[in-house]
Formats: sequence, C-alpha cells, structure tokens
Amino acid sequence: MDFGTQRRMMVERQLVQRGISDERVLKAMLKVPRHLFVREEDLYRAYDDMALPIGEGQTISQPYMVAKMTELLELKGDERVLEVGTGSGYQAAVLAELAREVYTIERIPSLAERAEEILRELGYENVKVFVGDGTKGLPEYAPFERIIITAGAPEIPRPLKEQLSDGGIIVAPVGSKYSQQLVKLVKRDEDFIESYHTLCLFVPLVGEYGWKDE
Ligand code: SAM
Repeated sequence: MDFGTQRRMMVERQLVQRGISDERVLKAMLKVPRHLFVREEDLYRAYDDMALPIGEGQTISQPYMVAKMTELLELKGDERVLEVGTGSGYQAAVLAELAREVYTIERIPSLAERAEEILRELGYENVKVFVGDGTKGLPEYAPFERIIITAGAPEIPRPLKEQLSDGGIIVAPVGSKYSQQLVKLVKRDEDFIESYHTLCLFVPLVGEYGWKDE
C-alpha cells in the first residue's frame, strides 16, 4: 500500500474514530509525510498506531498523541509556537502547517541536526531548530502564544509559564517517569486554568527544570 493511502487510513482509524475533530489538524496529519521522519528500517510501520525509535534512546510520538496535543493547542494560524523536544521533527512539521512560526528546541544535537535537515528538505521555512535545554525556554524569542512540551515532565517548567503570553496555551505530558497525563494550561492575567486529558507515556524531559537524569 502506498504511503498516501496508509496516511488516509491512519487519519480515519486512529484519529477520527478516536474523536479528533479539528478539521485543520486532520488536514495537517493527512499532509505531513510521517514516513520521512522515521528510520529506514521502520518505514514499513511508519503509519502504525505507535511511537517508534529514532535513535539516541528517543522516539517519534504515536500519531494520535501528536494529533491530540495539536488539537488541544487550538491553533488558528497566526501564532508563534515553542516546541520543547524536537525529536524527529514530525510534530514541528505538523505545527508548521497550522501556525505562523515554530521554534523547536532539542537537547541532543544529532537529532536536532537530522530534524532540521528534513524540515528544510520539505520546505518548512517557518520552523527554527535550536539545540539546548528547552526547560529554560527561549527567553530571547518570548513571549509565545502556544507552548508544547513533547517529553514527560515532573511539572511544567516555571520559565515556560513565564514565556507564555496572556491568553496563551501550554500543553504537556505531566507525571512520573513511567506514566503521565496531558495537561493543558490557559494563561489568564498571570493565573493558569488547568484541564486534564489523555493518559500517556513519553520519554523524560531532562534538564534544569525537568528530570535531573534520564
Ligand atoms: N516531538 C518529537 C517528534 O515529533 O518526533 C518527539 C519528541 S520525543 C518523544 C522527546 C524529545 O525530547 C527527545 O528527542 C528528547 O531528547 C527531547 N528532550 C528531552 N529533554 C529535553 C530538554 N530539556 N530540552 C529539549 N529537548 C529535550
């Protein structure tokens, strides 16, 4: 089966049937070629309902989790988004389809390099890739209207809350190293309105305001 057909089936069976309904998100998931973000040996399962290894002990997230987190961000098209945990670059590409600018930061240089290369090849000129500890955010580019953390956090790092603009949204998996829940924070006059969503399992967010080791 060709990749386009596999992608359509992924969207229908893994996303629509599980309740993803934001048409813009579904369209982006239908468009971004996930198979170009996985390792060659995983091509045959690029559109399967699972996270996959990308090297360095890290993963590209399950398609449903990418869609769910993106939907929770409520992107309209004009936002500047910060992503912490570039990984393969796949989530950044989905965000780039839906927002004005994407700033994505990865702590492992080889992953950041590979992600930057594929994003450039695909023509995503509105994505900037950085190497560093994303728990500190990117103060020189703040504030951001949306922030997404794609690694499991013990709590939402304080610098990221500070770098969110008023009315902005943060989505992150928060919990222990072995189980988390998607948390959405909406900032209103220095207060945060919290809501809790899907249970999930992400690799740890490692850094000054995250876990101290892997
Ligand atoms: N969003 C990615 C994708 O679409 O492929 C998946 C991200 S993967 C589940 C989590 C990533 O977060 C890993 O690549 C890991 O190295 C990175 N990471 C962990 N702690 C980090 C930190 N403090 N700053 C930046 N990246 C971090």
